[in-house]
Amino acid sequence: MQRVIVTGGAGFIGSALIRHLIFNTAVDVLNVDKLTYAGNLSSLADITERGSDEQRGRYRFAQADIADMAVMTSLINDFQPDTIMNLAAESHVDRSIDAPADFIDTNIKGTFVLLQAALKYWYALPQNQREGFRFHHISTDEVYGSLSGELNDESLFSEHTAYDPRSPYSASKAASDHLVKAWFHTYGLPVVATNCSNNYGPYHFPEKLIPLVILNALEEKPLPIYGKGDNIRDWLFVDDHARALELAVRDGVVGETYNVGGRNERTNLQVVQAICAELDDLKPRACGDSYAQLITYVADRKGHDHRYAIDASKLEGELGWRAQEDFASGIRKTVQWYLDNAWWWQPIREGRYAGERLGLAEKEDA
Ligand code: NAD
Repeated sequence: MQRVIVTGGAGFIGSALIRHLIFNTAVDVLNVDKLTYAGNLSSLADITERGSDEQRGRYRFAQADIADMAVMTSLINDFQPDTIMNLAAESHVDRSIDAPADFIDTNIKGTFVLLQAALKYWYALPQNQREGFRFHHISTDEVYGSLSGELNDESLFSEHTAYDPRSPYSASKAASDHLVKAWFHTYGLPVVATNCSNNYGPYHFPEKLIPLVILNALEEKPLPIYGKGDNIRDWLFVDDHARALELAVRDGVVGETYNVGGRNERTNLQVVQAICAELDDLKPRACGDSYAQLITYVADRKGHDHRYAIDASKLEGELGWRAQEDFASGIRKTVQWYLDNAWWWQPIREGRYAGERLGLAEKEDA
């Protein structure tokens, strides 16, 4: 693995992956990103503004739409990657409920175009380079549908769980996963797929639950929680995901899927309470009350999946991956990061969206 195209590298997970690849490996990276509302090149300032000459020399950026065949073909042919990691996506469930068209265009058609461009390029490679080539598709546990049960119930999503997507977002990701597997089985394109649980950490766009709650709390605004707050998600610190992605694409078996999850199940209410407890400690309110006083319950999301929880034992057992953060350490780092990095989130909060929830006016989780 020497020359890697990362699509969606200006987003939350893509930027964490690129920082990981530039700072911890010797690979060259081409970031291909359309720069939608969710793309932000300042998430890469550690490389582009504060990186060494050597680090900056291994990173480049192209603004492009993965659904544009001519541009993708030309970028791939010019860069000559041995690895393509596809993270470009519309990723926000609530937006997919309000306006699904972009999810079809990017998540389904965009993945198709990228697969076709990669396949043509791969066919033309010399035999010795064809074997080492990888197309890594990054996806979500939401394709598996909704689990019943309570916190830490024994039922978990495994790589063998049948797909049962229920939102326009998860349906579009499920479709893209199927396309990727079809390009492996039909054409032999060497693919690896990963399906991950909810991520959190630095540079998370403020429409998502965790950053939204942190920033609303700092601005003394209500902290809205869907329904009773008893929906359950399995939270993974984003840098642990970035390490898992590198490991899966480097050492994973071609044609296989690896589930990635943190074994950190929490109800939404527990997540918000944990953030409030950290903020009470790190930046107490002037009035002396806990931030938890700002919690407000709002009408539930349409079709809100009850529980997601991942069995990551294949990735752990076969590739030796372990999450380094548990939820307590990860949420503390995350809250501290938002306290220390207003330069990143303030322009987003003060800009066009002014801290409003994008998509639906109520609340979301990842
Ligand atoms: P994000 O919304 O933060 O970033 C997506 C990036 O893709 C943005 O930079 C955006 O500009 C770019 N993009 C969108 N449409 C594009 C297009 N047509 N062409 C090129 N670039 C385009 O998303 P994220 O949270 O970083 O998620 C990255 C990937 O990981 C997605 O595929 C998502 O489904 C998956 N995933 C996310 C989570 C999570 O908790 N955030 C969990 C599991 C899987």
